[in-house]
Amino acid sequence: MSQLVPEIARLRLLLDAHRKAGKTIGLVPTMGALHAGHRRLMEVARPESDVVVTTIFVNPTQFDRTGDLEQYPKTLDQDLALCREVGSDLVFAPTAAEMYPQPQLAWVDVPELTTHLCGAGRPGHFRGVATVVTKLLLIAEPDRAYFGEKDAQQLAVIRRLVRDLNIPVTVVGVPTVREPDGLAISSRNRHLNAYERLQARALSQALFAARDAILAGERSVKKIHSAVAPFFDGVRLEYCSIVDPQTLTPVEHIESPVLIAGAIWLGTTRLIDNVTVSVGGSAGEAG
Ligand code: AMP
Repeated sequence: MSQLVPEIARLRLLLDAHRKAGKTIGLVPTMGALHAGHRRLMEVARPESDVVVTTIFVNPTQFDRTGDLEQYPKTLDQDLALCREVGSDLVFAPTAAEMYPQPQLAWVDVPELTTHLCGAGRPGHFRGVATVVTKLLLIAEPDRAYFGEKDAQQLAVIRRLVRDLNIPVTVVGVPTVREPDGLAISSRNRHLNAYERLQARALSQALFAARDAILAGERSVKKIHSAVAPFFDGVRLEYCSIVDPQTLTPVEHIESPVLIAGAIWLGTTRLIDNVTVSVGGSAGEAG
């Protein structure tokens, strides 16, 4: 049974009762159009939490292109069915008016972590993400909150804001779920036509090739960029960067673990992906 809760006050009442009964709460924030990646977050949360709360909210303040917000897929009935199947106890699906009853004047921002990677091309995006995640954490007061490593910059921003603002929650990062050919699963994949879907493989292939080069001993970022450039032939590359996983600033010579992240455009669809590489140890994915 998944109970649909559209109101903040009602969610607070329900969760207060659970907390008083000594239950732990796991929060899985999403924008809906749920897929196997979201399912994995809920599956990881389920055994670790007495009460799993999945949130479905297409947050207007994080969209930097208006058409993108309108185009964002909305599939609430299917989403509820998936939440039920995985055993999410509560589904918090507020309206924009519930979350933003008046113009938002107070914002949470982590500018130092958002000048590079996606932040460079999406002004205001991470401020919207940081603000809505903070609101959700303050509304639900979960013990744990689950986020995908697929959105590595988002995860870094959330980890940092939780630390800097002393929010008492454990942030859990969940590895990226991929299609069999390597493409990271995303709500946006459904916008790809057959040809674009084939082209989409370029991103994960390039990231894996970069990772393999590092694992084989290459340490020059310049050389890695030259080696992976051919993967992006015929696609519009927004960025492909090798950065420090904590500060998200570009590195030139690889001496410690790195995050390799990229964004490409196929028509009007923007796809992102990343991997992490532990230098001198095993390779990990930050999907
Ligand atoms: P979204 O609905 O796109 O905002 O994503 C909600 C959460 O699901 C975020 O924490 C994402 O990082 C996570 N997520 C999205 N796609 C995947 C994926 N393929 N694998 C793992 N987590 C994902």
